[in-house]
Amino acid sequence: MKSIKNQGSACCPNQCEPFEIDYWSLISADQDPDLKSAALGGELNLVQCPECGAFFHHDGDLIYFDAPAELLVFVFSQKDREKEPELLKRMQEDYKIIKNTLLKQLHMDYPPVSVFGLEALKNLLQEEELISFESEAVAASAAAQGFGVVRLKPSYAREHHFPYYVPAPAGVNEANSYAVVASKVLRAGLKSKLLRNFVDYMSQEGAQLPLTL
Ligand SMILES: [Zn+2]
Repeated sequence: MKSIKNQGSACCPNQCEPFEIDYWSLISADQDPDLKSAALGGELNLVQCPECGAFFHHDGDLIYFDAPAELLVFVFSQKDREKEPELLKRMQEDYKIIKNTLLKQLHMDYPPVSVFGLEALKNLLQEEELISFESEAVAASAAAQGFGVVRLKPSYAREHHFPYYVPAPAGVNEANSYAVVASKVLRAGLKSKLLRNFVDYMSQEGAQLPLTL
């Protein structure tokens, strides 16, 4: 899916005359990594008022979608915050439509999330970056100790606060075997809250196997 630009009217915070702009209304992060970087850096939909020269963010609705990361974010305008209940209802309806049309071939099986404003999107993406870094450290530590590495289904990992990668037990297919190898990696000196959380969860009696890709 391609990223989409819309036209709209931007309102300068200094009460200048509104002016026409092109702004991004749909970001396809894996297709357009530059737009992902812009969102992370706070430069997405940053515009300059032609009258007074002020820079500001155009506060329009936006959908941010990262298919490989299984991340679908509805970014609502800051000024609509008090309308949250109806926006969430509309989001669920829009999600159903998007899921069954635009993204049908992706078989989406994870729910969307919502935030208000580009600053909140930036914070969410920065948090994602930290989780990705920590997950890569887990994968590197596991590999360094001679373990295989499996990738968890991203939306499942995010929901449970697990790393995106975990060490793979050899042959055995029980949740507890995952806990055992992950404990070994932690004991070897890796500091990872996400992996610790994974161990705690997989050690529980009756724990289900993790969802892997
Ligand atoms: Zn202005």
